[in-house]
Amino acid sequence: MTERIDFKSMTPEELTAWCKDQGQPAFRGKQLFQWLSRGVASTEEMTDVPKALRAKIDQAGGITPPVVARKQVSKLDGTIKYLWQLADGNCIETVLMRYRHGNSVCISSQVGCAMGCAFCASTVGGKIRNLTAGELLDQVIFTQKDSGAPISNIVLMGIGEPLDNYANVRKFLTLVNHPNGMNIGMRHISLSTCGLIKGIDRLAEENLQLTLSVSLHAPDDETRSRLMPVNRATGVDALFAACRRYFQKTGRRISYEYAMIDGVNDTPRQAALLGDRLEGTVAHVNLIPLNYVEESSLHPSTHVAQFQRQLEKRGITATVRRRLGSDIDASCGQLRRKALREQAKGQR
Ligand code: SAH
Repeated sequence: MTERIDFKSMTPEELTAWCKDQGQPAFRGKQLFQWLSRGVASTEEMTDVPKALRAKIDQAGGITPPVVARKQVSKLDGTIKYLWQLADGNCIETVLMRYRHGNSVCISSQVGCAMGCAFCASTVGGKIRNLTAGELLDQVIFTQKDSGAPISNIVLMGIGEPLDNYANVRKFLTLVNHPNGMNIGMRHISLSTCGLIKGIDRLAEENLQLTLSVSLHAPDDETRSRLMPVNRATGVDALFAACRRYFQKTGRRISYEYAMIDGVNDTPRQAALLGDRLEGTVAHVNLIPLNYVEESSLHPSTHVAQFQRQLEKRGITATVRRRLGSDIDASCGQLRRKALREQAKGQR
């Protein structure tokens, strides 16, 4: 049997090379890429591609669209949360958020997550596997197609750790940015990481114009290591050093995510420590009221405004993230958890 070809993870140039190997003219590569970017359900929809070539694609593995396993629409703000079923039966989440400046899609990078953050629902069952570049891209394409909402912004803030799936995420960025496809500019893309130092350095070398978000959640090692196992090996000092290198290389302002947790990371002392870390740097702090996760004993903070004021007094821009889709479990692996729990109940 011939090796299965992952057409959806290929650039137009790679598709062109494959088409040439099949004795087809070069322009077919671009044509295939354009069809895939439109979210076709099968090769049958590629009406101007010769039948023989479509058959070859099917023989080599074909193209499988993600299927909507669940869809929840917020009555409050029109946020849509998708649970997509992938070709191998695994499920991932994608969220469409509507803002005045355009529609944004929050995509997953892995099935599950290996990072083990104490407050996060995505990590509860561990990591199952990485998503392919094509599966990353399909979340954008099929969310746009299903919702009819033109997507202008992407955040890699769904399930998984993007820098733990570096090669596929990097390839995805090339695909989604491609002028023959979605053509979404790097400046309209944010990538969020729990702070994998090597990944941050690697990304810095590429000097992309995307926005790097670092999930900080605590300015001191004791608290951060308690919340985020990834911190135990590296520590906050090394993380901020990597962030400084990133800024020096790219000139791009880093955004720090900070989920406010009652009695854990929301004290005036911690605001002061964070201030010491960030004062005089080009940074932005995003304060997120913790979303309650059933599997954890952590609760949202009631000191968000105070914490924000303390940072602003030191000249650090800090915003409180507006919660979208709070009526539909719209954050962080919660829908996938719910579906898995229900599945487990059904099997008992
Ligand atoms: N692994 C990446 C991206 C996925 S998480 C990262 O760690 O950045 C996206 C953001 O949601 C992260 O900042 C994460 O820390 C945050 N998050 C996870 N669970 C949360 C919760 N229960 N409440 C608020 N924010 C949460």
